[in-house]
Amino acid sequence: MLDPYKRHIHYLRISVTDRCNLRCVYCMPEEGVPLIPHDQILSLEEIRDIVKVALSLGIDKIRLTGGEPLVRKGIVDLVAMIASFEGLRDLAMTTNGILLSTFAADLKAAGLNRVNVSLDTMDPVRYAEITRGGKIEDVLEGLAAAKAAGLSPIKLNAVVPFNSGPLAAGDVARFGEEQGFEVRFIHQMDLQAGEFTVVEGGEGGDCAHCSRLRLSSRGIIYPCLFNDIGFDVKTLGAREAILAAVRGKPKCGVPGSGNTFYGLGG
Ligand code: SAM
Ligand code: SF4
Repeated sequence: MLDPYKRHIHYLRISVTDRCNLRCVYCMPEEGVPLIPHDQILSLEEIRDIVKVALSLGIDKIRLTGGEPLVRKGIVDLVAMIASFEGLRDLAMTTNGILLSTFAADLKAAGLNRVNVSLDTMDPVRYAEITRGGKIEDVLEGLAAAKAAGLSPIKLNAVVPFNSGPLAAGDVARFGEEQGFEVRFIHQMDLQAGEFTVVEGGEGGDCAHCSRLRLSSRGIIYPCLFNDIGFDVKTLGAREAILAAVRGKPKCGVPGSGNTFYGLGG
C-alpha cells in the first residue's frame, strides 16, 4: 500500500494487551493504568481476522507487542494462527522478557521468527528501579531460552535518556556483543511534549521512511504513534479501517499525541 506521501506501508504492529507485569518509570505510572475491560479487548480470533485482511492488502511484517504480550492468555495460539497465513515475511515480538523462559520454545514452535527484548541496564539494582520491581535474572534466563529455541535474530531495546548517547547503556551494548544480540538505542520519548527521535540501530521515528500502522488492543488502527488519528475496526471493518489509516497517515508526527507506549506498544 502506498500512502499519500508515497511511503510503502507494509508493517503492522499489534498491541495484544494494555496489561503489563512491570511498571517502567518512563512508560507507566507506579499504580498502573485504568485497565480496558476484557469485553472491549479484541479476541484472539478478531486479531487473527484483522491480520488476514491486512495481509491481503499488502502487510507482510507483523510485530506483537503490548503492554506485555506474554501476559496475554493464549499468546502462543495467536502466534500459531498468524504464522500459518501466507504472505507473512516476518513475525516478531517485543517483550520485556520476564516470562520468556517459559514461552520461548513454544513461541518458536508456533512460528514466531524473532524477539526484541527490552533491557536498559545490566545492573540488577538499577533494573529493579527502572522497572519498579523487575528481576533482571528473569530477563537473562528468558534471553538464554530464546537463543536456545533458535529465535533469531535477538535484539535488545535499550531506552536511554532523551538527550544522551548510546553510552548511557554501554553495559547492555557490551553484553549484546558478547552474546551476539543486536542492540538498539531508543531515546526516552514524551509523546505529549512531542519529544521523539529516531531509534539508533533501528528504524523507528524516521517519519520520511515510516512503513507502519498500529493496531491497539481495543481495535483501533493508528497510522502514527505521534498522532491521535485512529480508525475503529469495530465500526469500519478491518479493510476500510486499514485503508483509511493508510490514506490518513500524517506526513510526520506532532506534539500532544494522547497515545501511550503501553497502549500502542512503542
Ligand atoms: N512490554 C514490552 C516491552 O517492554 O518490551 C512491549 C511494549 S513496550 C511499550 C515497547 C517498547 O517501548 C519497549 O522497548 C520500551 O522500552 C519502549 N518505551 C516505553 N516507554 C517509552 C518512552 N517513554 N520512550 C521511549 N521508549 C519507550
Ligand atoms: Fe511494561 Fe513494556 Fe511499558 Fe515496561 S515498557 S511498563 S515492560 S509495557
